[in-house]
Parts: sequence; structure tokens; C-alpha cells
Amino acid sequence: MTTTRIEIPANALVITLGPAGCGKSTFCEVFPGNAVVSSDVCRALITDDATNQDANKQAFELFHFWIKARLKQGRLAVADATNLTPRARKTLRDIAAEARVPVIVLRFATDLDTCLAQNRQRDRFVPEHVIRTHYEQYEIAREAIGTEGYAAIHTINPLREYEIVINGGARTLTAPGFDIIGDIHGCTLELNEMLLTLGYDISWITGVEGEGSSYVHPDGRKLVFVGDITDRGPDSVATLRMVKLALEGGHYAVMGNHDNKLMRALKGNKVKAGHGLQGTLDQIEEQCSPAEKQTFLNMLQSLPYQLSLKVEGHPDVVVSHAGIPPELVGKDNSFARNHALFGEVLGFLEDGMPDRGTSYRHGWLMGDDKPYCVHGHTVVPDPEFLFCNVFDIDQGCVFGGKLTALRVPEMTFVQVPAKATYSEK
Ligand code: MN
Repeated sequence: MTTTRIEIPANALVITLGPAGCGKSTFCEVFPGNAVVSSDVCRALITDDATNQDANKQAFELFHFWIKARLKQGRLAVADATNLTPRARKTLRDIAAEARVPVIVLRFATDLDTCLAQNRQRDRFVPEHVIRTHYEQYEIAREAIGTEGYAAIHTINPLREYEIVINGGARTLTAPGFDIIGDIHGCTLELNEMLLTLGYDISWITGVEGEGSSYVHPDGRKLVFVGDITDRGPDSVATLRMVKLALEGGHYAVMGNHDNKLMRALKGNKVKAGHGLQGTLDQIEEQCSPAEKQTFLNMLQSLPYQLSLKVEGHPDVVVSHAGIPPELVGKDNSFARNHALFGEVLGFLEDGMPDRGTSYRHGWLMGDDKPYCVHGHTVVPDPEFLFCNVFDIDQGCVFGGKLTALRVPEMTFVQVPAKATYSEK
């Protein structure tokens, strides 16, 4: 059986749609951790009975509150309920709109007989007439959802196998080779020169009509950006457009602290627009339509905090913006995310701000059995540290230094010198 792959952003609301007995809750077991918010569980928490309809009002208050709280924390929420009425779906869409996250529908294409049969096999079953009513509602909903405005609608066929990929979560990627690119900060010219030097097809930007995806490499290599796409540099909008094209073309990026702050600003959150962010927001306001602004927000929300790269015959390489110690590799909790964005807190400075030095990174991941760690975030003159497999590829292009790429599995560096000093440290 072929497996169908479904990609879902890490900060999204997923709505299941289907009658009782269609296999929703069993299917939802593929989602990680606590992502699944179940109306049955809400009923059980209040009445000790998952099928008790007497406390529906309170059960759904809890259901909605729980979903809101997860979305607010930047977490995935899967609304595991029948969601068959327009009102039920509208309430969920409103919650997602308030949190500014995309809504994705999983429509269960299970026929009525299968729903009835599966229901009979459960120890706590729903009356048959309820399922028949559900199925009638489902047939109406199936048509209606097409015009309700979802980011995606996936049909789940009970006879097929699915793989759910959470785009913002820690993931392992395989490719013949990777080119990991350091902090860009709006340095479009240097990025363009870098992609050309690395052998990527950039014909779209020179005005030549190209076939297929953007930035194709003849050897099937993949780009991985270490984050900090914008701020301080000359052209943050053009850089956002380039990275977006690259991601659409099957390349990758991890979330940097600047990307994270821009994401929160675009969501309408109150942020202090320091460190070049105000310049980026001004450029976006001048140059971008509301629709393009939304596509940038969608892109930023889909960025993972770390990625593990696998090339056959080579030790794994883990990429995160500010580095990640071995014990947090593959973890996607708030501590790991914060660490991936900013690094470790060594102590506190006189002004009360955390002291995030770099020397501690050198001791990580030593030994042959450990993966390589590649990061940016802290400007250093040279990417290579001796006696250790941690590489800092932020050579401060925006401050007049260099843009650096690390090629995997070759473990060689390619550098493009900055064409100007765009910002003072
Ligand atoms: Mn940076």
C-alpha cells in the first residue's frame, strides 16, 4: 500500500469532519503529544462518561478553551469532534482567526455501513439513529466546506495509509547533499551570488523563463537556511521572497530569533521593534500587498526550530539557529525552542539581561558517535572550531563580514564577502 503524506504546519488548527464511528479518534493517534483535543475527553472530564450528551454546553466550552490555549502557545491543536454543523466549524474558524493560524480539514470518507459497523465494535457506542443523522449532516458538510475558506482540505480514506508530517516540528531530512546558509539579514545580493556559486538554478531572478521549481540543483542538493532572514540589511522583502521561493521549491529553513519576532509582529502581537525589525516592517508595509504579507506570515509559522540532516555514509548534522545541545536534539518543547532561538543562558549581566556566551557550545557533541551541529546567531570571524564538530556559520555579512555556506557531506565552506557594511554592530 502506498502511503499518502500530509504536511501540516506546527501552529495550526486541524478540524476532523465525520460521523461518530468513522475512525477519527483512531486516526488522530498519529498526531504527536497532546495535540489532539477531543470532545469525548471533555465530556468524560466533566461527566465521567465520554458519550454523555447532557453536559454538551460545558464540554464544548472546555473544548474551545483548550484549543484556544494551545494555539496561543504556538502549538498544534487537532479538534477531534464530528464538527458536522456549520456553527461548530464557524466557532473553530473564529478561534483560529483570533490566533491567526491556518485551519486544515481532515474529511473522513468512511461510508455509512462502515461507521455503523465500527460503532458496534466499540465498548461505548452511540445509538444508530444518531450516526444516521450524522451521516446526513456529513453529506451536506462535505459540499459546504469547499466554500468555508480552509488552508487545506484532506480526504481521509479508511482503506489507505497516511503519514502526517508536522512542518514546524523537529524532522529528519535526507538528500544527496545539503548547503547550509548562515544568517542573511536582508543581504539579497550576497545570497543571490551564493546560490549561483553553489550551482543552484537562479534563472527566475534574471528574467529567464525556467521550468519546474525554483532553485533546482543539478545534483539534487537541498538548501537549509539557519534563520534570521531579515532585519538590518538592505532588502528584507526581497530576501523573504527568495527564501519563500526556495521553500516552495522543496528547500528548508529553521526559525531564527529575528524570524520569530517578525512572525509575532505580523500576527499583530505587541513586540519591541528593535534590532532592525522596524525597518523590515516599514519595507513590508511599502512593498507588499496584504495577501503577500499573509504568505510571509504563513511561511514563518511553518519554520521548524531544528532539523536533522542525513546524508548516506556521513554522520548526522543537526541545524538550529543558535545551536542545540545533544540532549535537546529532536525535542520540540518550549525549552528546546527557546534554546534553538537564543542559545543557553550562562548567567545574568548587570542590566539583568541573560548572558548567552558562545564558548559553552564548543564542548557539545564531541566524539565520533555524536552528530555535527551547525548554527548561526552569534557573529564569529571564522566558522571552524578545532577539536569539535560544532560550526557557527554566521560571519556577519550584514556587518560587512561574509555570508557563509557549509556543504554537507563535503564539510567545506563557501563564502561570499559583503558588498558593503550595511549595519554597525
Ligand atoms: Mn542573526
